[in-house]
Amino acid sequence: MTPFSICGYIPESINEGAGLRAVVFISGCKHACPGCFNPSSWSFRAGKPFTDEEQQRIIQEIADNPLLDGLTLCGGDPFFSARECTAFVHKYKQRCPEKTLWAYTGFVYEELMEDQEMRTLAEQCDVIIDGPFKLDLKDTTLPYRGSRNQRIIDVKASLINDSVVTL
Ligand code: SF4
Repeated sequence: MTPFSICGYIPESINEGAGLRAVVFISGCKHACPGCFNPSSWSFRAGKPFTDEEQQRIIQEIADNPLLDGLTLCGGDPFFSARECTAFVHKYKQRCPEKTLWAYTGFVYEELMEDQEMRTLAEQCDVIIDGPFKLDLKDTTLPYRGSRNQRIIDVKASLINDSVVTL
């Protein structure tokens, strides 16, 4: 069984999405983008097991912080652990119904829609930043993303339109 691990947690960040956000780095990524910002996160065993206790601890911390706008799932690529992340997200949403969910992925949105487990996680997100990091399209001036191919996607609007709507 593939381990479900966490290789980082930032309680407050302004860099991974709109407003002030908690960021959880889910271990494991197979995209192997040249120039990846975080190759140490590629292993599914990086960091430590993301146990139920650790999940509850982080959710409680988010719930207790009124300054936070929401949670961002980063990695690694959380969509390689879509089933486990969906269970975590359900707990988060139950505890923090007023807060938003953003997620990063190296898959493109259309790929997420074709896989049932990834689509189920995607449907829980308010915003997804999609696509692999491409070194030749690197642009450090872009908000929230590293290369110009990556899109900031309004998931609810995209689901309604059945095609990608960017913010
Ligand atoms: S998807 Fe992200 S974590 Fe995975 S290799 Fe690409 S840049 Fe690195």
